[in-house]
Amino acid sequence: RDLPSDPIQENSRRQIRGACYSRVTPRKVSSPHLLAFSPEVARLLGISIETCRSSDFTEIFVGNRLLAGMNPYAMCYGGHQFGNWAGQLGDGRAINLGEVDTGKNSHWTLQLKGAGPTPYSRSADGLAVLRSSLREFLCSEAMHHLGIPTTRGLSLITTGEQVVRDMFYDGHPKEEPGAVVCRVAQSFIRFGNFELPASRKDINLLKQLVDFTIRTDFPHLGKPSTATYLQWFNEVCEKTAILLVHWMRVGFVHGVMNTDNMSITGLTIDYGPYGWVEDFDPNWTPNTTDSQGRRYCFKNQPHIGQWNLLQLANAIYPLINDTLPLQEALNLYTSSFQEKWNVMMTGKLGLKTFQPHIDDTLIHELLGILQSVETDMTIFFRNLAELSPIQEDNNDQSIPAPLREAYYLPEQINKEYTARLSNWLQKYRKRLQEDDQTVEERTERMNQTNPKYILRNYLAQQAIDKAENGDTTMIEELQDLIRYPYDEQPEKNHFARKRPEWARNRPGCSMLSCSS
Ligand code: AMP
Ligand code: MG
Ligand code: MG
Repeated sequence: RDLPSDPIQENSRRQIRGACYSRVTPRKVSSPHLLAFSPEVARLLGISIETCRSSDFTEIFVGNRLLAGMNPYAMCYGGHQFGNWAGQLGDGRAINLGEVDTGKNSHWTLQLKGAGPTPYSRSADGLAVLRSSLREFLCSEAMHHLGIPTTRGLSLITTGEQVVRDMFYDGHPKEEPGAVVCRVAQSFIRFGNFELPASRKDINLLKQLVDFTIRTDFPHLGKPSTATYLQWFNEVCEKTAILLVHWMRVGFVHGVMNTDNMSITGLTIDYGPYGWVEDFDPNWTPNTTDSQGRRYCFKNQPHIGQWNLLQLANAIYPLINDTLPLQEALNLYTSSFQEKWNVMMTGKLGLKTFQPHIDDTLIHELLGILQSVETDMTIFFRNLAELSPIQEDNNDQSIPAPLREAYYLPEQINKEYTARLSNWLQKYRKRLQEDDQTVEERTERMNQTNPKYILRNYLAQQAIDKAENGDTTMIEELQDLIRYPYDEQPEKNHFARKRPEWARNRPGCSMLSCSS
């Protein structure tokens, strides 16, 4: 149907009480242009490739036209931002078009990001720039192919309009091309959706939302009751633990783990100033807004996951009225995370099973060594699979050839470091020999855990630079690359190389601000 030309009524900024969402109308744009789409997501939705290439598709997924049955809305939620309660936030620039029911209890919500203001836009414009949209589109698909729960990216469309943003450090407002991403997920509900009605003491609304969530996304839990609510919370803890182990495995740093960016179904959601660990620095965060406190740095993520779950527990407490079982679930998160993390690290080292007291020391020592000089996390683990299990010369203390590629600053590799690494490798080899598996089995195990290709920060930035100059070829190249992150893809080897030195301190390549 045609959209009203003046959507101000529906979309005007305000506090929304007694409701979980508001009907809104996407803003029309002048000259949308499709830059990329994901054939995998299209297939999921039953959309043909031919349709994706049509102008109808572009018009619909930029927000210019609605299909029959679409009744767009923006969701109302609050959240804890950087540890502080922030009140109503809501979908300030995200608009749900509706849901595709693909049968067999499977449903997909279509959400436009950057399609104009909503009641939740507060002081911002409701828009998104190409830079951040491209990063979201590519990274959500990269995460999916890495086997990590995530919202998906169906399409990336520029609007033909300019958006004003404060760019990084120069402080001057700059115009950038606007874009809209269509995100797809089973659910976009966040911890913050429950926190807001709880903070307003609207227990009736809170209960309606919890019951809805269980009915639609946790149907196996059955009829709502106190027991069901607890089981549900336990499952959310478990899903969050699984997610966090995945992030730690591949070196993904979300950057803004506020409770409004935590998915109730355990998905990676809201790709903003995220980044991939290059140099293995546990204190690293790509988010310049967080560079002081480092609340959301790499190593803190698992703990923050639990802190966020605690906020969710507080929010749903009125439905349970008992602290103990909620506390138990939160404790379970810790033990469950640790258990899964051990298994994951065992996989990264190519060991068959985790041997307590032996492997925790082995892992702990390795993590210490990795931080002692600038070491590329992805290359180190991937290439560790090529280490020969038998050391030919026991006095040889040089760095094994496969690992040499991983170092950013060769001048840091001194005698002390080499001795430390050699000592560790000796223990590791001994452990491998006790492990009763063939070299092929170990390599296979490692290569399924340690990706060769990640969406390196500088690669995304190169794709952005080109796209902003009208060349979208690199987007497609990266789409092809991230489809098979664990495969060798020899013709794409150059994408597996460590970050070039020119990118070390370049905005967009290793540091990002929230402004997107
Ligand atoms: P984020 O930190 O990106 O997850 O965003 C936090 C809150 O700010 C959410 O409520 C967003 O919808 C809102 N927000 C972020 N950017 C914009 C924007 N350009 N226009 C309107 N709302 C925004
Ligand atoms: Mg957000
Ligand atoms: Mg964001």
